[in-house]
Amino acid sequence: MNKDSDLIIVGGGVIGMSCAYELAKRGVKVTVIDKGEPGFGCSYGNAGWLTPCFSMPLPMPGMLLKSIKWMTDPESPLYIQPRPSWLLVSWLTRFLFNMNRKQMLRSVTALTEISKYSLDAYSRLSAETGHDVHFKKTGLLMAANTLDGWNYARQEMNLVSEHGVPGRSLGAEELKAFEPAITGPVKGGVFFPEEANAEPLEIVRALAAGAKKFGATIISGHELIDCDARDGKIHSIRTTKGVLKADQYVFATGSWSTGVGRMLGINIPLLGGKGYAFITKPLSPNPLRPLMLVEKKVAVTPRDGTLRLAGTMEIVNNDYSITPRRINSIVKGAREFLNVPQDFQYSELWRGLRPCSPDGVPLIGYTKKYSNLFIATGHQMLGLQSAMGSARLTADLILKATPIFDPKPFDANRF
Ligand SMILES: Cc1cc2nc3c(=O)[nH]c(=O)nc-3n(C[C@H](O)[C@H](O)[C@H](O)COP(=O)(O)OP(=O)(O)OC[C@H]3O[C@@H](n4cnc5c(N)ncnc54)[C@H](O)[C@@H]3O)c2cc1C
Repeated sequence: MNKDSDLIIVGGGVIGMSCAYELAKRGVKVTVIDKGEPGFGCSYGNAGWLTPCFSMPLPMPGMLLKSIKWMTDPESPLYIQPRPSWLLVSWLTRFLFNMNRKQMLRSVTALTEISKYSLDAYSRLSAETGHDVHFKKTGLLMAANTLDGWNYARQEMNLVSEHGVPGRSLGAEELKAFEPAITGPVKGGVFFPEEANAEPLEIVRALAAGAKKFGATIISGHELIDCDARDGKIHSIRTTKGVLKADQYVFATGSWSTGVGRMLGINIPLLGGKGYAFITKPLSPNPLRPLMLVEKKVAVTPRDGTLRLAGTMEIVNNDYSITPRRINSIVKGAREFLNVPQDFQYSELWRGLRPCSPDGVPLIGYTKKYSNLFIATGHQMLGLQSAMGSARLTADLILKATPIFDPKPFDANRF
């Protein structure tokens, strides 16, 4: 069988598509397949934040007691539903093991680097591809209504300032003057002036347009179902629309990766971090810039003519069900800070599963088992903001160039 391209990427989310763009730009003949429409997985309705200031892994020191408490409170911003599952037990064991300062600092360094690179690359994406991603460099404001929350925001500011991400602390009065949309009682906040936001689906579309300009082929409705894997190599892949063949394969299948890995005997222990987002009318007064409501972990993003409220993280395994109690907690949380009307209405409610690795760092690299299979997944709550950096590292490794970032923290075989 003749090969269809040099390299096939499975998964057309922001990770797969940014890899396609970067590799095609560098001369590789790429085909991207997606089981649905590219960009309609977790990359569809996220908050759109391009914020290196949030380069924290999911497991953070001091979260042990909190995580036990979360298991008993279905309204908590991070909820881990206790259930008998070997994947959950092994994921949680590794998650708890990674809640230490040394590991956290290592992860923050790696995640800030790929996020800062990405922010810079996104600022040029509309011009490079001719597709507007609505990139806005408005900064990001964290607002806290407890002293603990304000201290947490300042700790985060100090941590990322060591990696060249500037921020400044604001007292309650200063915060309210700076952001008149904050109508509830607050203790203080932190403003990060360099952060940006964009429309997530438009980013995937821009990347697709850019990749196509450099010769990439993008095919929707092709689901990977099996592989011809022998002698340490993938020879071809079987999809719902037939067999495809290439020299190399990149799997960027987001929260589906555990099942895809299982098909080949590769351990990719990801769970889904279910989150929701609403599109609603602008508030009165409407925020001037994106806000993180610290204690509630609600992300508020003003858009052209609408507003997006996003939040919650529920650790699940491929469960897309909607829990009304958890979506109500987002609205309730936002109302503590902002003038959210009592008869809150939305024009769209979306949920997505963030692909969460147990240590909060993506898996980017070749698998040990198959010499021509590369994995790029596990980007938890930072997939959009770190996609371009992840793609750069992917392309460097595939093209045997000196990698721009240290690939060790991203080792795809570490679990
Ligand atoms: C509420 C919410 C808010 C968020 N806000 C932000 C934010 O502001 N900033 C940020 O950086 N991140 C944010 N995130 C996280 C971000 O959305 C994810 O990290 C990112 O979208 C992951 O991208 P991905 O390409 O890995 O996965 P996906 O976008 O899910 O893409 C994976 C693709 O693989 C395809 N696929 C799967 N299996 C197969 C198969 N067998 N065959 C073919 N195709 C297959 C799927 O159809 C899908 O299109 C948020 C997430 C949520 C839920």
